[in-house]
Amino acid sequence: MRVSIIPFGRVEASILVSIGESLSSVFPRMSYNILEERIPIPEGAYNPSRRQYHSGVILMKILEAARAMKVDRALGVLDVDLYAPNMNFIFGEAQCPGSAALISLYRLRPEFYGLPPDVRLLEERAVKEAIHEVGHTLGLGHCRNSRCVMAFSLHIGMTDRKYPRFCEVCRSEVERRIR
Ligand SMILES: [Zn+2]
Ligand SMILES: [Zn+2]
Repeated sequence: MRVSIIPFGRVEASILVSIGESLSSVFPRMSYNILEERIPIPEGAYNPSRRQYHSGVILMKILEAARAMKVDRALGVLDVDLYAPNMNFIFGEAQCPGSAALISLYRLRPEFYGLPPDVRLLEERAVKEAIHEVGHTLGLGHCRNSRCVMAFSLHIGMTDRKYPRFCEVCRSEVERRIR
């Protein structure tokens, strides 16, 4: 499985590398590349009344990029506040199954919760959300095991509770779905 990591706007390069390395360690037979250029966030995605970005609009852009680059999966990494219809906010979104996924660092940063910056914690959270969303692209649903990376995160505490890997059940699903 070939995965392209696509940075949108300003995103730390070291976090992109951590994401790529972690994806390669949990998904069998996976290779990744990181796009050098920073893609601008599609203007139409911004909702001024919510002061948030519509995740679905950006996801379609990523899908186009995946097709153009002829990769199996494309993961967008952003640093803006994302929403989806009927949700106050989301950490990320993916086609389930499909080839496009995205995560945002915006609500993963300790600063968002009034805490001092912590790059290590930010990386840990980004890695978990990235694995989670790429898991969805393979068709995996949410897992009831709160420690499994496929557990749904309603708030950041639930992200912190997860391990950056699959439970036994999800692990075997991944093995079955990756050829
Ligand atoms: Zn999910
Ligand atoms: Zn699981």
